[in-house]
Amino acid sequence: MQQAKNIIIVGGGIGGAATALALYKAGFEAVVYEQAQELLEVGAGIALWANATHILKNLGLLEDAISVGCLTTNYQFNSQSGKELVNIPVDGFELPAVGIHRAELHQLLWRNVSSEKFVLGQTFERFEQEGKKICAHFTSGLTVIGDALIGADGLRSRVRAVLKGNQPPIYRNFKTWRGLTDYVPSGYRPGYIQEFLGCGKGFGFMMLGKGRMYWYAAAIATEAQKDAQLGRGKELEIMFQDWFASIPELIRATDEADILTTDLYDRAPTQPWSKQNITLLGDAAHPMLPTMGQGACTALEDAFVVAKCLKDQPDPIAAFQEYEFLRFPRTKLIVEQSLRSGKMGELNNPFAVALRNTFMKLMRTPISNSFMSLQAYRA
Ligand SMILES: Cc1cc2nc3c(=O)[nH]c(=O)nc-3n(C[C@H](O)[C@H](O)[C@H](O)COP(=O)(O)OP(=O)(O)OC[C@H]3O[C@@H](n4cnc5c(N)ncnc54)[C@H](O)[C@@H]3O)c2cc1C
Repeated sequence: MQQAKNIIIVGGGIGGAATALALYKAGFEAVVYEQAQELLEVGAGIALWANATHILKNLGLLEDAISVGCLTTNYQFNSQSGKELVNIPVDGFELPAVGIHRAELHQLLWRNVSSEKFVLGQTFERFEQEGKKICAHFTSGLTVIGDALIGADGLRSRVRAVLKGNQPPIYRNFKTWRGLTDYVPSGYRPGYIQEFLGCGKGFGFMMLGKGRMYWYAAAIATEAQKDAQLGRGKELEIMFQDWFASIPELIRATDEADILTTDLYDRAPTQPWSKQNITLLGDAAHPMLPTMGQGACTALEDAFVVAKCLKDQPDPIAAFQEYEFLRFPRTKLIVEQSLRSGKMGELNNPFAVALRNTFMKLMRTPISNSFMSLQAYRA
């Protein structure tokens, strides 16, 4: 018979929330300890490909996600002026791709687990083994004991630092801007994610549910580069003024307060992720550039697989070894592929960019296949 296990989850982002739900559905007692005082996600969108909607289906959330999101049919890459380079149909699987607001996804996950399983305002500090148990200490002085601990505490994971040493993530020379608006530009093609590639910068937009447009921009920048004095919106308007007309339209239609900036980092994939009854998940284990749109999707996969391993294998040490064995090769591939895609975006002389665009047109089938093979995976 399945032994009841108490699992400590550190971090309540998309990865931690999905893990809590997957474990709850598998019959475990899992409690999430989150440093934030409130459960909030940033105001931005996310693309969930078929490999991730497969997990939502297994968690019983797919219909709800479709009802608050927007079905995505194509992922289209264009030159900065809007000439199509590659057009990838993403609606050919047995499961849909969905564009969704991050907060909507987060709420779907949270709402299906009882609120006493989330302890807010607790910042994890360190752990120690106590026989077969794990003891987690928080900066507040709180100490909790469990049978296993999962670090889902993101890019700068403290659990990872205690487990593997405190190596900083690698800055990949890009700054991003993300915006939300109700304005739908005339150049929007329903169901499409439209991405535009230029010299050392790029722009993309897609529809989320409830009539909201989500857009994102990326440009080569030094780490922690400050906003221009004239403000984020004006800076972007100047950067993209002569691009495909929908882009300056979207920027102008967005309130400055609804534009977020984030520097882009990843880590070279390394093992181990697990030590005895402690493991890592999501960005804590395998942070990646967002160029393949797979960071949150793979965190959902991790959540499902770790719960399955714990269910199949009563010993958490063996379960975490199996989880890492299953997840490391897949996520390594995606981290590396995302970095290679990022390098293509780094080209910033017009000759190299023209060559890249020609290359993309010639290579549309292999490019399309590489996206599709990631989305075809079923955890
Ligand atoms: C510009 C951009 C666009 C993206 N677009 C996509 C996309 O379209 N599709 C996609 O799949 N992915 C996308 N991603 C990636 C995705 O956002 C991440 O991979 C995903 O959010 C990782 O989830 P996580 O739960 O592992 O980490 P996080 O979301 O970072 O959550 C970590 C949680 O842990 C908490 N925490 C941290 N430290 C502690 C501590 N010491 N104690 C307690 N709690 C702690 C944090 O407060 C946070 O709530 C994008 C990322 C960026 C930057």
